[in-house]
Amino acid sequence: YSGKSLISVMGSFIKNISVMDVKSIPVVVSEDTTVYDAIVTMFLEDTGNIYVQNKGYLSGVVSRKDFIKITLGNHDIKTLPVAMIMTRMPNIVYCEPGESIFDAAVKIIDHQVDSLPVVEKVNDNDGSEKLKVIGKISKTTITKMMVKIGND
Ligand code: ADP
Repeated sequence: YSGKSLISVMGSFIKNISVMDVKSIPVVVSEDTTVYDAIVTMFLEDTGNIYVQNKGYLSGVVSRKDFIKITLGNHDIKTLPVAMIMTRMPNIVYCEPGESIFDAAVKIIDHQVDSLPVVEKVNDNDGSEKLKVIGKISKTTITKMMVKIGND
């Protein structure tokens, strides 16, 4: 390949890999989980982002910085629910199964976050649209994909 066509081949390559092909397993907790337990979970599961759900649907995201921020204040993290400190819907940036790894990477960069939940949209009984978490795309996921392509 010449320089220009190599770039265009790589461009269509990353736009053709679906988030479904590389997604990882998310760590999910419920809204009533305490900040303390969520921090322990973050260490045990070796992750930087935890997704929070309410009645089975995505309601929030918590990250390392959220935990650092709350521990600087005078709070009882053993009783404080994670729902009090999470970034919540509708401010969560997510991706859907039909999107490419390129689309996901653009959102990660534009919104300066470490990961995106992969969600399926479902209509709840009350007719409102809810998000069901089915995976996770993170900077690590994308780096691992690069390593796998290199090894293969
Ligand atoms: P870290 O805290 O390790 O830097 P992030 O960069 O992912 O991790 O998180 C920075 C902020 O963005 C946190 O307040 C977090 O709650 C929020 N956040 C993380 N992921 C998302 C997302 N997908 N959509 C919206 N906000 C997010």
